[in-house]
Amino acid sequence: MDSIKKTDDFVFKTYLRQGKAFVKGEGATLWDEDGKKYTDFLAGIAVCSLGHCHPKITEAIAKQASTLVHVSNLFYTMPQADLAAKLCEKSFADRVFFANSGAEANEAAIKLARRYFQKKGEKNRFKIITMEQSFHGRTMATLSATGQDKIKDGFYPLLEGFSYVPFNDIDALKNKIDDTVCAVMLEPVQGEGGVVPADALYLKAVRDLCDKKGILLIFDEIQCGMGRCGKLFAHQLYGITPDIMTLAKALGNGLPIGAMLATGEAATGFDFGSHATTFGGTPLATAAALEVLNIISQESFLDMVCQKGQYFKDKLEKLKEKHARVLHVRGEGLLLGLEIDKDAAYFVDQLMKKGFIINGIQDRILRFVPPLIIENKEIDRLISALDSLF
Ligand SMILES: *Cc1c(COP(=O)(O)O)cnc(C)c1O
Repeated sequence: MDSIKKTDDFVFKTYLRQGKAFVKGEGATLWDEDGKKYTDFLAGIAVCSLGHCHPKITEAIAKQASTLVHVSNLFYTMPQADLAAKLCEKSFADRVFFANSGAEANEAAIKLARRYFQKKGEKNRFKIITMEQSFHGRTMATLSATGQDKIKDGFYPLLEGFSYVPFNDIDALKNKIDDTVCAVMLEPVQGEGGVVPADALYLKAVRDLCDKKGILLIFDEIQCGMGRCGKLFAHQLYGITPDIMTLAKALGNGLPIGAMLATGEAATGFDFGSHATTFGGTPLATAAALEVLNIISQESFLDMVCQKGQYFKDKLEKLKEKHARVLHVRGEGLLLGLEIDKDAAYFVDQLMKKGFIINGIQDRILRFVPPLIIENKEIDRLISALDSLF
């Protein structure tokens, strides 16, 4: 039985998979079972940002795998300590909680925001305002936080305490904040919702509003963080900082790891026993993530992401000038979206046949999240393949 039939027979049918099985990856290239090559503009959904099987990450994983894989958080390990210290050194944060996925990192952020106020005796201040079209994960709390109905279908009743406002609309947010609200949670650049960056003035106004109302600001940088938008963290494009930030996807370049970072003040919401997870911050996952962070946080690396992002975006803008079916080009760095007036699925299928992997979101948006090490000539080849499909 081949991998496709076996998967379809035995794995839950929760994923609409493209009929392709991959066996090997290197840099921005993937090989399928028949030995055919593909250039990857998806990177496992913004995960393999350093490309597939980056030699330094592979080495860090192999070395740690043969030294110590897991001991639990009843003890200390150096890779976890090093990664936490480096994340704090490179960000606004003073403390880190390690999780295993994006949803879990957000779950931790939601719990921290509630407990921060409940610990102070503000028991009714538990509501979190999130954005329409946002995506925060698939656990009950994170799907309740998500501003998209299709994610919630069949799972009612939701967790109480979430309300939603249109993204980039400061008045709508102002009108929703009352003394039951503990936090505002948003993606500085919405990913799944259609690759939509926050307006610069809006994000500053959100920060000011949270300060004025004395509530916490949570940034979900699970997709837009870790160099994806040309800065180590997307909010650095805006010159403001949150109180809490979540990371996952690219943090381990493919090893499962998530993190919730907080200021020292916000972090006081958790005490001994407030939160825990068995696998959080294993030596294996943190050794990999430390190496990822060491590479991605270099200024020269981030400059290169900005250059490639601009190069790619300019080429997409040219496609828009040329083809009326291209409606919008959006995004920051190498998190780019092309809104078209046609089903994205057609382009995804056709590009797959031509040896490119991209993905479609919200029916009519093509999302490009290649490994950050993608080369200009690979971008050129994708653009001409795309060009021929309009
Ligand atoms: C992917 C994603 C999540 C969920 O992460 P999982 O690891 O799939 O649980 C949450 N927020 C954003 C912005 C994401 O892109």
